[in-house]
Amino acid sequence: MSRTYAVRTYGCQMNVHDSERMAGLLEQAGYDRAADPDAADVVVFNTCAVRENADNKLYGNLGHLRPAKQANPDMQIAVGGCLAQKDRDTIVKRAPWVDVVFGTHNVHALPTLLDRARHNARAEVEIAESLEVFPSTLPARRESAYAGWVSISVGCNNTCTFCIVPSLRGAERDRRPGDVLAEVQALVADGVLEVTLLGQNVNAYGVDFGDRQAFSKLLRACGGIDGLERVRFTSPHPRDFTSDVIAAMAETPNVCPQLHMPLQSGSDDVLRRMRRSYRSARFLGILSDVRASIPDAAISTDIIVGFPGETDADFEATLDVVREARFAQAFTFQYSPRPGTPAASLDGQLPKHVVQERYERLVALQEEISWAGNRAQEGRELEVLVSTGEGRKDGATRRLSGRARDGRLVHFAPGSDGVRPGDVVTVRIDYGAPHHLLAADGVLSHRRTRAGDAHEIGLRPGGAPTALGLPSIGAPPASEPVVSACSTPEVVR
Ligand code: SF4
Repeated sequence: MSRTYAVRTYGCQMNVHDSERMAGLLEQAGYDRAADPDAADVVVFNTCAVRENADNKLYGNLGHLRPAKQANPDMQIAVGGCLAQKDRDTIVKRAPWVDVVFGTHNVHALPTLLDRARHNARAEVEIAESLEVFPSTLPARRESAYAGWVSISVGCNNTCTFCIVPSLRGAERDRRPGDVLAEVQALVADGVLEVTLLGQNVNAYGVDFGDRQAFSKLLRACGGIDGLERVRFTSPHPRDFTSDVIAAMAETPNVCPQLHMPLQSGSDDVLRRMRRSYRSARFLGILSDVRASIPDAAISTDIIVGFPGETDADFEATLDVVREARFAQAFTFQYSPRPGTPAASLDGQLPKHVVQERYERLVALQEEISWAGNRAQEGRELEVLVSTGEGRKDGATRRLSGRARDGRLVHFAPGSDGVRPGDVVTVRIDYGAPHHLLAADGVLSHRRTRAGDAHEIGLRPGGAPTALGLPSIGAPPASEPVVSACSTPEVVR
């Protein structure tokens, strides 16, 4: 019998997608996905160093596995991702029952390291200092039949002082546009309707091969792919966000009217200390240009409250920008120092109660704005791509859930049994809540799709290295939605 595996993912979309690659590698090496993750022969932790107390949580989780490992010496535990890149052999010092530690630059080595650890009966720690194999050339076990992540770049050339990403993911490396488009095409050929282009800073795409307009060209090229209905991307950076991207978004029908634009702070002084090179006026200027070209764009953001030295006036400046920007949604975070980042040693770290009070005021303001934005959707007819795992109460309420083109979460009454994840429906919104929309009166139209067929019978796209163009199919995934922006210091949603 083949050995089984489970991958536990923490953190951002980049990690979620890396986990698909880890799973693909393990399946190519002959492992099967464990039906019961708690009984897997190999457990891989794909860690995040951005979350607060990430190391304590990791060691807590490793501690929970210790009895299982003692009971079954054949079991193996591997730790990869950003925290592994950062802590390296500290992990096996603190948790000597771990078998393998690998970093963000050598994901491809996972099966070999597992074999070597078993053969040598000792822990294998291997961390590469720079990217050895672009993860997108590795096999993947895709989690969804209807939506797929596609990396366009890894790493980041910026130096935001709160962020650990550049030191753990390295400098930006861009994939060739032809490789990106080939991967998108392969996914669409397998029935996928929606792709999300992924990079730490997608607007810098092209820096590696000297084309400043490469990202807008990529969006337009996605517009030419038959069967690709929705294109999203994350995360852009206000510094590099240029008018050619806005024009490409507005003029390419399958690019969704959605933009995640991290603000981080509305105070120019704080932005300077964060080493974010735009200022609030530039940020608001981008938003108004986007809205002039794409009036219905839903714009979301990330905001950090309580950055070192943030004064009352700085915080009021953030509230002012939030009032003017009218974000559809904001991911708000209380600053806390992350070891290894420049901001961790800045003067002016704020007491918790000050940060908490400001945070609550910001959340209350944004809640009001989000709710007003969702109320404005009442009465509108929206196209929804039906998804899995997004409506916790769906079973009890006999509803289904999905995303509108602008990314808003919609819960709806299907009205019949025939609607499946991966299908596309049109619904009329009758209630806008602060964090979702509700359509209780059934669907106005229902389009069965190849993605819905694939989901229904348990097929999923991809599997083979896209460079070889050999997509394969396999068993359906359990849904584990983890969505957040790369550029946030904390990625819990
Ligand atoms: S916050 Fe985003 S842009 Fe800034 S350094 Fe981190 S990954 Fe790069």
